[in-house]
Amino acid sequence: MPIKKENRDRYPPRTEWLNIRSRILKRANHHCEFCGVKNYTIRKNARMVLAVAHLDQKPENNHSSNLAALCQKCHLAHDQPFRMYHSRQTIFERRHSHTHDLFEYFK
Ligand SMILES: [Zn+2]
Repeated sequence: MPIKKENRDRYPPRTEWLNIRSRILKRANHHCEFCGVKNYTIRKNARMVLAVAHLDQKPENNHSSNLAALCQKCHLAHDQPFRMYHSRQTIFERRHSHTHDLFEYFK
């Protein structure tokens, strides 16, 4: 999943991140730490590429216990509840800001 522009500063500098990523992939022996698929395996005509995930969704937390080498399928499944939560939050904020705008309009 691409990193949103507004979140880029939350991640370590690129060279540091590449070192962290390399360490986690090595720890996982280049296999997904959830399902065990090997990095670059072809499944259903798609290449499984491991990414290093922040399990608590906080990119500032680069402790080894918070990082896992995951395939796309496991990464998406892990992040799904967090995405749902943020999606609901965004919808709520949009509705709320709209209401707020109306109040401002009638002042
Ligand atoms: Zn997996």
